[in-house]
Amino acid sequence: MGKVYLIGAGPGAPDLITLRGAEILRRADVVFYDALVHPETVALAPDAKTVAVGKRCSQVSTEQRFINRSLVEAARKHEIVVRLKGGDPMLFGRAQEEIDALEAAGIEFEVVPGVTAALAAAADLGVSLTRRGLSRSVTLATPRVGAGEEATDWAAGVTHGGTAVLYMGVGQAPEIAAALLSRGLSPHTPVSVVESASLPDSRSFQFPLSELRRAAENGIEGPAVILLGEVFRQAPAVQDDEFEDDFLAYGNSWFR
Ligand code: SAH
Repeated sequence: MGKVYLIGAGPGAPDLITLRGAEILRRADVVFYDALVHPETVALAPDAKTVAVGKRCSQVSTEQRFINRSLVEAARKHEIVVRLKGGDPMLFGRAQEEIDALEAAGIEFEVVPGVTAALAAAADLGVSLTRRGLSRSVTLATPRVGAGEEATDWAAGVTHGGTAVLYMGVGQAPEIAAALLSRGLSPHTPVSVVESASLPDSRSFQFPLSELRRAAENGIEGPAVILLGEVFRQAPAVQDDEFEDDFLAYGNSWFR
C-alpha cells in the first residue's frame, strides 16, 4: 500500500512550492494535478506518471468521484502518489472529499500546505491584509455554490469589518457587489482585484465597491481574487485627479 500526499503547489509561480512539496514530487510515482498548476511544477516529478484532473470554472472537468477513486487505486499500486493542488490544498479545493475517500479505504495520507491565492495577491499588491488599528481579521470566502450544494450566507463573513478575500468570484462581480451593498457595506469600500497573482502576467485593479459590478465587463481570463477592506484604501496607485473618488486603475488598460 502506498501513501497519498496532498500537496499545495502554491498560487502559480513554480518556485512558490514548499521544499517539502518539491522533495516529495521528486520521488513521486504518480501525480494527479489541477488545471492551475504550472507545468514547471508538474515537471518537478521527473519519474512520475502525470495525470491532469484539472478544473476551471465552466469547463469540462474530471468528476470528483473519479478523482477520489483514482487516488485510492493508485495508492494500491504505487508507493508515492501525489495529489497536486493549486494554492493550499485545504482551501476551496475539495480536499476533504479526497481525504474521506482515502480514510474509508484505509490509505495513509499526508497534507503539505501551500501558499494560498489570497496571500500571493497581498504580496503582489504590497499591502498587508491585517494592519494595526485598521483590520484585525481576514475572511476567506467564496460566493460560488457547487452543483448539489446548499447555498449559505457567504456575505455574512464579509460584512462584519476587517479584510475579505473572495475566491472564484470575478465572474459574479455584479451579484457580489449587489449582495454586499444591500447588506450595508459602504459603496466607498476599497476593492482590489488581483489576477494571476505571483505570475509574470499578474495584473491588479483598484476601485470602490460601487464599481465592482464593472469587473465582469473586462477581460480577466486568469484566476483572480477580489479583496475588500480599508487596508486597500492606500494601495499603491497612480493618482489621477479626474478619477480620484471614482476608481483607481494602474498598470493596465482596465476601464479605459
Ligand atoms: N486552493 C486554492 C484555491 C482554489 S479555488 C488556493 O488556496 O489558492 C480557485 C480560485 O483561487 C480561483 O477562482 C481564484 O479565485 C483563486 N486563485 C487561484 N490562483 C490564483 C492566482 N494566481 N491569482 C489570483 N487568484 C487565484
